[in-house]
Amino acid sequence: MKRALITGVTGQDGAYLAALLLEKGYEVFGLVRRSSSADVIDAKLRWLGVHNDVRFVDGNLLDLSSLIRAMRDIKPDEVYNLAAQSFVKSSWMQPILTGQVTGLGAVNVLEAVRLDAPQARFYQASSSEMYGLIQEPVQSETTPFYPRSPYAVAKVYAHGMTVNYRESFGLHASNGILFNHESPVRGIEFVTRKVTDGVARIKLGLQTELRLGNIDAKRDWGHSKDYVRAMWMMLQQDKPEDYVIATGRTTTVRDMCRIAFAHVDLNIDDHLVIDPDLFRPAEVDVLLGNPAKARSKLGWEPTITLEQLIQEMVEADLRRVRQQIG
Ligand code: NDP
Ligand code: GDP
Repeated sequence: MKRALITGVTGQDGAYLAALLLEKGYEVFGLVRRSSSADVIDAKLRWLGVHNDVRFVDGNLLDLSSLIRAMRDIKPDEVYNLAAQSFVKSSWMQPILTGQVTGLGAVNVLEAVRLDAPQARFYQASSSEMYGLIQEPVQSETTPFYPRSPYAVAKVYAHGMTVNYRESFGLHASNGILFNHESPVRGIEFVTRKVTDGVARIKLGLQTELRLGNIDAKRDWGHSKDYVRAMWMMLQQDKPEDYVIATGRTTTVRDMCRIAFAHVDLNIDDHLVIDPDLFRPAEVDVLLGNPAKARSKLGWEPTITLEQLIQEMVEADLRRVRQQIG
């Protein structure tokens, strides 16, 4: 039985990845940081019905000793570093913490792997945000990075260190450069989930407005379920490499909203309000990925369209909101 350690197991991708690896017969260990809300920390794993099957390990990306202890005790075959301060907008308010967790935290995990589990295969959650002010209209593994937020700068550092540990110490370490991916358990602060939750609340009469910032921004959105499969595929390759994971289609926030409103027969123009407070100090206007390498080398393809994704999210939020209001 293979053993996998997932940092960030309580997050969106951690939950979907845990479910995938359990289905494949892995023993799945999840690093969990101490929280005063221990009773609800596994909500996303619970949503996917796998909360009783993951073995939780106490640890924090900022505490190297906890990571070393985890590697020593678990002796994982695969390590997926998904933990991060992952919300771009917060990274301007908490730039130092973001650097410590999202940047240096990844190096703490790499160090723990190098010291105590050097045979383990390592996955780093890199991000399309690293392309920022895009240097090519379609971004691939060879497109230069131009990060536009403290989050993206921290991810560039973690990405570079993952390459460096591969080249310096021969670790089987791969970066997945994932474009935005969503699901019903996406954090509520991200735009897709904010929209699907808002649409559900408007439909059920709990609010009338949805306040958004820059709706002209364009993103290449996929489904987390498809994207965690790509993470696993990367670690099954003989040779560690970096891969772009994307759909190859980009859509404005406005059009993504339209899909959500239309699904419940509401008119976007009756409810959408632009709030300048939600604009960012520096924006990533457009992201569009080229997943050709993942397609040819991994045989990976996305299977869920943006329309299917948004409809699934709206339905899930309608169920959640109905439960809340009894
Ligand atoms: P989430 O924000 O849902 O999850 C982040 C996870 O990191 C949570 O489990 C969180 O724990 C954990 N975490 C945060 N700080 C620490 C810490 N100091 N020590 C240990 N754990 C910590 O992110 P996603 O699942 O959406 O994303 C997974 C990874 O992929 C992240 O690194 C993200 O930056 C990256 N990424 C995501 C993309 C996306 O579109 N979703 C696109 C590209 C990259 P807690 O529950 O306690 O807060
Ligand atoms: P990001 O690509 O990781 O920053 O993912 P987000 O889902 O947070 O944001 C995607 C895009 O939506 C960005 O260009 C945001 O500026 C834009 N956006 C517009 N309004 C909002 C909003 O109210 N919340 C969020 N999170 N993003 C918004």
